[in-house]
Amino acid sequence: MINDINIWLERLTSLYNSQVRHAANTEGIRPVHAEILQYLSICNRYSNTAQALSEYLGQTKGSISQSVQLLEKDGLIERRQCSEDKRVTRLFLTPKAQAIAERIGKVLMPNLGEAKEANNALKSLLMDWQLTNQHKGFGQCQTCRYNSLLSDGTFQCGLTGESLSSDEVKLLCREHEFQVRS
Ligand code: SF4
Repeated sequence: MINDINIWLERLTSLYNSQVRHAANTEGIRPVHAEILQYLSICNRYSNTAQALSEYLGQTKGSISQSVQLLEKDGLIERRQCSEDKRVTRLFLTPKAQAIAERIGKVLMPNLGEAKEANNALKSLLMDWQLTNQHKGFGQCQTCRYNSLLSDGTFQCGLTGESLSSDEVKLLCREHEFQVRS
């Protein structure tokens, strides 16, 4: 059954996808490559892997691996072995790709500023959706049950035990879990 939320979500996603295509055309890259650059520009240090990209974009590992190879060849992505776990390869944007991702970000969200009310409504919708469908992952520390604000004003991730800067808590994390409402 269609309700108002279906209609508005459909409209928002189709508008967003159309903006992604427009931004990708302007930059002369494929839309999926624009999405990869955009994701890597907003994800945190635990989430910059091919596996996370595959989960986030809903694409197969094979197709993500192919895209990553092409982006690497074009000088837009660098692969580096994780210093804590040698089995893991992390993906980083080159300065050229960072500039592209910044321009793409401006096309995707032009002049919306902080739009606090819309921000809260979208966050609440996403939270209900993820909790109802038992989807985990891909949120900001600000709403994660593992995030703690310490007495000195810094943050700490309860999952990794590592401290987080005020900039890092705004990034997208694959391990994110919403605090379940009581
Ligand atoms: S607090 Fe949550 S969202 Fe933040 S880094 Fe830890 S697991 Fe990820």
